[in-house]
Amino acid sequence: MPDQLVDLVQLDAADEKYLKDLACGRFFGCPAAPIVEAELRLRDAAPSIAYFSMEYGLAPSVYHEFKSANPISPLNISSGHEVFSNMQAMDYYHLLPVKKLLDLPIYSGGLGVLAGDSLKSAADAGLSLVALGILWHKGYFKQKFWFRAGGQVPEETAWDPHSYPGLVPLKPRVTLELSGRPLQLKLWKYYVYSSDFKRAVPLVLLDANVPENPEYFRELTDQLYRSTNGWIKLCQRAILGLGGVRAVEALGYAVGKYHLNEGHAALAFVEKARRADPEQLKSSFAYTCHTPVEAGHDRFDLQELTAVIGGEAAEIVKKYGRDERSPNVANLTLLAMSASGHANAVAKKHGEVTRLQFPRFREKIESITNGVHTHTWLSRPVRELLDKYRDRLGDWAADPALLKNVRQLAGDAAFRRDFWAAHLENKRALAKFLEFWYFDDKAFTLCWARRIAPYKRPGLLLQDPNRLVEIARRAGPLQIVIAGKAHPADVPASVHLDNMLEKITMLNGERKCLRIVFLENYDTYFAKQLVSGADVWLNNPLPPFEASGTSGMKAILNGVVQLSTLDGWVVEAADKGIGRIFGYVPPAGEIGSESDLKLAEDSRELYDNLEALAADYYALASGRTSPEDSPWLDMMINCLAESGFFNTQRMILEYRDRIWAA
Ligand SMILES: *Cc1c(COP(=O)(O)O)cnc(C)c1O
Repeated sequence: MPDQLVDLVQLDAADEKYLKDLACGRFFGCPAAPIVEAELRLRDAAPSIAYFSMEYGLAPSVYHEFKSANPISPLNISSGHEVFSNMQAMDYYHLLPVKKLLDLPIYSGGLGVLAGDSLKSAADAGLSLVALGILWHKGYFKQKFWFRAGGQVPEETAWDPHSYPGLVPLKPRVTLELSGRPLQLKLWKYYVYSSDFKRAVPLVLLDANVPENPEYFRELTDQLYRSTNGWIKLCQRAILGLGGVRAVEALGYAVGKYHLNEGHAALAFVEKARRADPEQLKSSFAYTCHTPVEAGHDRFDLQELTAVIGGEAAEIVKKYGRDERSPNVANLTLLAMSASGHANAVAKKHGEVTRLQFPRFREKIESITNGVHTHTWLSRPVRELLDKYRDRLGDWAADPALLKNVRQLAGDAAFRRDFWAAHLENKRALAKFLEFWYFDDKAFTLCWARRIAPYKRPGLLLQDPNRLVEIARRAGPLQIVIAGKAHPADVPASVHLDNMLEKITMLNGERKCLRIVFLENYDTYFAKQLVSGADVWLNNPLPPFEASGTSGMKAILNGVVQLSTLDGWVVEAADKGIGRIFGYVPPAGEIGSESDLKLAEDSRELYDNLEALAADYYALASGRTSPEDSPWLDMMINCLAESGFFNTQRMILEYRDRIWAA
């Protein structure tokens, strides 16, 4: 068995320390049989799926942590996060008590977490799939607050891939020619298991940081979304697209479908088209567009592209991906869209927007609404609740669609009390986590946590600090948790962040009724605590720029009530009683402008709705209404029931049936 496992994994056995972790039918403490089965199937003639993404958020700290027989570098252990709050002395004296395995730092936000959740669900569904990504040696970036000066300082993430549990170097290598010079790519593997450990899918990571490469090549895989120059960005896309296809071949996998997430991986088509008729290839390519936001679409000068990937490959790009507005520009979104037999958006509304943005491909663009992986994002208290009522719900753990049956328990007084008790347990955990900041498990708690991007309107809640204070004085104490990173090159986003920190400082005198904390360096571990420990999840993007959004889906799974604008996934659940929906809605058939943020009008509506929610919450929390007849419990139940739809188990089967099987 050990030798077979080593062979099938294609471990670089020269690195002997890994042999210990692959001995006795185990792979880093997990059963090896699913790996053997997955590897054999991938080599079988039956065509498999190659899934490409620039980033993967696998959250091992909250789902299936591997155990290694070798010591783990202290670099891979995360500890001590700072907080920026309106209780400044606390920020000075305390760090958040976090000591856990660092999340595999190869993601930046929602796109990566979705890719990670998709792999888990592909394993759950028993699909034959291999994922391709990049091993980012310096991660995305580590967010440090500039203590008291108000602002974010990006630092490099230092971690050690050689002692990260579950990550192994492979024997086969891949060579590319970039800018006329050979580039060596080392390959790594990490397995993603199904929730019951019966199946697994491999994730293959490409790595340019090997001694054989010149320094300027070695740096290409250091930092995710480093955008200091166009050449680096282009080479990174070449590594993922061209290198990814060669990796699949070097590992001997029989791939029949290539799935491209964003335009980042579009050069995979070019690699295949060098050796086959491009028109015939289209049916084996599929593409998911994840954003209507302009900055999400890669464009490169065609001359530079030709210099990097060579004339022959560039001809294919010119034919399929020449920008419609500027003929000297290659547009990777367009390349992915025209090269793929199937293209899809990530929610119904996003499908409409994408068809408006790409009228030429109207017919081709479908929608498959995103989801989240139930077993990753479900908190323990709610899991135990669902298990307790399993005879009424069915085997929800095997089939999360059964969560819709929760609605049938809405009239059950015991269920309502138990659900409230489970929520209070989650609240206590969050209050304990933030105890140095005087968090109170009885106080109304609201959370906004996601990437700081202007269209997500991170500062909407702080638009009028006086109004917030008024609400807290009238309705009852208010606790607000904020978290998120701004891409270091996104200047408008950094300005939003600076303004937020400034306003939090201004609210220093109000901390008796209003506690605000901004957690440094948001990651999936924090996300799990916040999406279960808050009473209300705030989501206020400017419609229609949020393609889907997924953090609210994590929150409904835990019965956390939504306060949201009408955008992304929320459009599909807005009439289901999951909370309060507010704000600007663009006229039908119009997209509008990303920069007209409508902060004044929408913040007024936000405050009105927040005040109403706070009043409802305190009616229940103070005992004036009981869980049996509180409308709050109705909302919580509707949320949990809707998560029967908004999960990646449903989503991955839609991809299988509508995209990959077609
Ligand atoms: C879920 C998640 C996101 C995505 O949040 P959105 O609501 O889609 O913006 C971003 N970052 C982390 C760490 C997450 O867990």
